[in-house]
Amino acid sequence: MYKWRTELKYCLVALGFSSAIGILIGELILMWLLALLTLTIVNLYQLKRLNRWLLNTSTENKIDPPNSFGLWNNIFDIIHQIQKQEKKSSHLLGVILGKAQESSTVLEAALMMTDKQGNLDWWNLRSEKLLGFKKHQDRNQPITNLISDPQFLEYFYSQKYDETLKIESPTNPQKFIEYQIALFGESERIIIARDVTQIQRLENMRKDFVGSVSHELSTPITVFKGYLETIIDNIKDLDPKWEKPMLQMKQQAHRMENVVRDLLVLSALETKTLPKLQEKIKISTLINEIEADTQQMFLEKSHQFSIDCDESVLITGKRSELYSTISNLVVNAAKYTPHYGKIELFAKLSEESFDISVRDNGIGIDQQHLPRLTERFYRVDISRSSETGGTGLGLAIVKHILMRHDADLEISSETGKGSLFICKLPLTRVSQLSNKDEDQYNLVLESNH
Ligand code: ADP
Repeated sequence: MYKWRTELKYCLVALGFSSAIGILIGELILMWLLALLTLTIVNLYQLKRLNRWLLNTSTENKIDPPNSFGLWNNIFDIIHQIQKQEKKSSHLLGVILGKAQESSTVLEAALMMTDKQGNLDWWNLRSEKLLGFKKHQDRNQPITNLISDPQFLEYFYSQKYDETLKIESPTNPQKFIEYQIALFGESERIIIARDVTQIQRLENMRKDFVGSVSHELSTPITVFKGYLETIIDNIKDLDPKWEKPMLQMKQQAHRMENVVRDLLVLSALETKTLPKLQEKIKISTLINEIEADTQQMFLEKSHQFSIDCDESVLITGKRSELYSTISNLVVNAAKYTPHYGKIELFAKLSEESFDISVRDNGIGIDQQHLPRLTERFYRVDISRSSETGGTGLGLAIVKHILMRHDADLEISSETGKGSLFICKLPLTRVSQLSNKDEDQYNLVLESNH
């Protein structure tokens, strides 16, 4: 590497040489000025060569630096090295980009990128086939103009992308597309779209099948149960050996009736969307009503119920569904809590949600079961659940209704100590009841009764 000291040495030699000649001819100042002028001309000349070289060399077409000497040679060399490295990196980047482009064309999924304004920046070939994007026309178009379904608009601007969105294809209403969005950089988005028509068709068939079978079964079961009840009412007329089988048949018919009822509820929840216009429900009234109904159902167990509710809170939602959710949890608490046990109901506003909690000090649930409790037909202990008339569908219904109300269910429990179920409703569904509203609300309630 060329050193500064060498450059300084050359300058001193030139100064010494010009001073010696200056003294010899008696023109010291003139010789110094001459030396300075020569140095300036040499440097200006090198600067001019550097400028010309840089102007002639473009990013794609690099030419070798001109020959030089001393510090200038060093500068030319360093710039040349940087240029070579930059060329290598841009080549590598080009190869990577090329591979990414190529691999994106063989993907089954459509990939799109939008800028921070939501305009289409880039998309792969599959997007053109699946969503009908046009190569030359659609660049920089707002994506919401190309996929104009209101549900997509809501999903796109919501910035909540934990869940995917399944809607009709913008090009063919017979097809279903699933969208998943991820944010990156400064509010830029990457959008993945897949054709899920086949899966959706199977899912619809499953829903229709469960709905139809449950519907078809409900009448025969009612008739069957009716006859059984009549026979049991007149059991004295029968041979005593039939008494036990008859009672068992009645119990099983009752279970079947419960399963069919719960399957019909689930099927209705899956097929009907929540109406846009929803009621405002005074949550403390609802909870008091559920507590009274459950206490009546489990009168012989003499549970100690307690309620602690925010009196002024209204929740926007569907009353019958919220009743069903809370009631399922309270009935479970009563079913799985022994005689004289404690069941506590809370409804409180927290910082990020409105929490409706049901706590009992009953038999509790082992940790290993907690993640699967809301699956259909999942029961911790089948014999225990059958004894209590359980179907294993109650918590699946709870989860489904909460999902429809943008809410979550949190479960914690300890065997032998009890369980806590918390419904976490979003604050967007909460409003406060003023005194004036309360009077009006009571009037409406009275007139409804
Ligand atoms: P089921 O109709 O059988 O009660 P659920 O879906 O309501 O079905 O509940 C699923 C299982 O979770 C039940 O079988 C029961 O074992 C358990 N479980 C639910 N709630 C409680 C509770 N409060 N205490 C103890 N176990 C519970």
